[in-house]
Formats: sequence, C-alpha cells, structure tokens
Amino acid sequence: MICDGVAVLQQITMNSMTKEETMATCSDCTWFNRIGEEAGDYESGKGDCVSEHQDEKGNFWLSKPVFEGDGACPRFSKSR
Ligand code: SF4
Repeated sequence: MICDGVAVLQQITMNSMTKEETMATCSDCTWFNRIGEEAGDYESGKGDCVSEHQDEKGNFWLSKPVFEGDGACPRFSKSR
C-alpha cells in the first residue's frame, strides 16, 4: 500500500514538472563547459560543470566532469 502511495506521489510530481524540466540535460545548462579536443581528458560529449561557491575566505570555483546527455540536476540553469 505504501508503494502505491509513493508511485502516485511520483506521478503527481512528474505531472507538475514542465517539459523543459523533464527534458533538460547538462548540454542545455549555463554551467556546462564543453571540453575541447586539445584537452588531455577529451571525450566526445564530455564537459565540466563549473560552479561558484563562497566561504569566509572569499569566492572559489569547483568543477566536476559531466556529459552533455546527463540529466539535469536541481542546479540546472537554462543557457541563453
Ligand atoms: S550537473 Fe547540473 S549544474 Fe552541472 S551542468 Fe549538469 S545540469 Fe548544470
């Protein structure tokens, strides 16, 4: 019975999401930076997700590898 409730909740959540939210991938995101073929870690479709953070010492940037087809995360920001 609990599983049915979870399934219904998931369906309601999916129905309330816009098409953009359900279809978005990292390649559509402002924070996605494609890796050039000249880079040592080049792979087709690979990029870096770059994000700015702040602590008591100031601002800093973090980067993690992602692929353009990866599903969007909650930080997704539509690129212009
Ligand atoms: S992991 Fe999230 S923030 Fe990073 S590029 Fe993909 S959607 Fe954007």
